[in-house]
Amino acid sequence: MSKIERILIVGAGMAGLALAISLRRQGLNPDIVERQHGWSVPGAGIYLVGNAMRALGSLRLADEALQDGSVIRTQTILDDRGRQLAVIDTASVWAKCGPCVGIRRAELQKSLVNALGPADIQFSTTVSALDTYGAAAAVQFSNGTERMYDLVVGADGVRSSIRTLAFGGAQPRYCGQVSWRFLVQCPPSVSGWTLFAGHHGVFLFIPVGQGQAYCYADAAVAEPLDDPLEGRLERLRSRFASYATPVPEALAELRTSDQIHFGAIEDILQEPWGADKVLLIGDAAHATSPNMASGAAMAFEDALVLSKLIVSGQDVAKVTNEYTNQRIARIRWLHEQTRQRDRIRNLPPLVRNLMTRFLAKSAYRANYAPLVEEL
Ligand SMILES: Cc1cc2nc3c(=O)[nH]c(=O)nc-3n(C[C@H](O)[C@H](O)[C@H](O)COP(=O)(O)OP(=O)(O)OC[C@H]3O[C@@H](n4cnc5c(N)ncnc54)[C@H](O)[C@@H]3O)c2cc1C
Repeated sequence: MSKIERILIVGAGMAGLALAISLRRQGLNPDIVERQHGWSVPGAGIYLVGNAMRALGSLRLADEALQDGSVIRTQTILDDRGRQLAVIDTASVWAKCGPCVGIRRAELQKSLVNALGPADIQFSTTVSALDTYGAAAAVQFSNGTERMYDLVVGADGVRSSIRTLAFGGAQPRYCGQVSWRFLVQCPPSVSGWTLFAGHHGVFLFIPVGQGQAYCYADAAVAEPLDDPLEGRLERLRSRFASYATPVPEALAELRTSDQIHFGAIEDILQEPWGADKVLLIGDAAHATSPNMASGAAMAFEDALVLSKLIVSGQDVAKVTNEYTNQRIARIRWLHEQTRQRDRIRNLPPLVRNLMTRFLAKSAYRANYAPLVEEL
């Protein structure tokens, strides 16, 4: 019998939804609040590496992802003229674990929401105050109501307000890259994860099923720059105009700037994650740059580990300790590897491409090795 029954999940992104699904399947019924006014899907597509698919398997959602998305067996890295630098056999790296899959974020979100079932999510709602000193956490919501909880889970992303309320000032760190994301028809020449690395940034295609590809472009810039909607498409076309086919063709297919999501890349590693009936999961606790495409995997794994501990019958302090013990080494490893890859990504293009040619394959295997292992 769980000692933690009154649970609040703040944020219905991948981490919050996965936790809610898992808890509901084990007989608990958490409250969920979400700041957005309804379901909106940030970003265009997402690359799920093998351990994300393994975790989706535990949530009984892997088959759906395979059906909706596209299995990725290789990662091919080319220079901006289309000359091959490296081909990585991702299928063999993840063989013990599960396939890598490209999928549209809308499809992934749809299957998480369906799996959640008829839960009562309070949209347009956030937490305005948190008092954790009593026997239970007293939460004041932005709609003026107040409730008591055994556990408050901050699953509210990289700019988490639960993190600020519970732990104070840690702010996300700018990773030295800005990115653009959108969907296009999948070019016939693209059959796997395909990246063009040149002087003006990298441009990545990932097939995401139903004849579409997710495009992710980024550029290394010392200070975060803004790229206003007005003229964004023209600027992006001009940035990548000299790149090999099918990069300019993909950009030519876009009609309006609002098809392109733009943002600065940030990371954070908050420690501790838990204290006094509050616990952080997903990006709220440990966002990384997308360089290792592992945010979804970590969010799902967090949710699986935490839900199992919550129903184990231990009290909140023990759950918090055990959760941290089970997750911290993996998360620190991922952060270190991602930051190292970010540093290489931000090197002058000639040096970066040379390193890619000689080191990409062995680095890929080494970077992911501990994450291939079971939780
Ligand atoms: C450009 C980019 C590309 C990426 N590509 C990949 C990839 O290919 N593969 C991969 O695995 N990962 C990728 N990631 C990372 C991945 O998107 C995140 O790790 C993942 O979304 C984390 O899920 P989350 O639920 O923790 O946070 P989020 O997805 O940020 O969800 C947080 C939720 O909380 C809500 N919220 C925020 N504040 C509040 C509040 N105060 N009150 C209530 N609700 C609130 C938000 O509206 C949102 O719904 C990428 C990230 C970026 C930025």
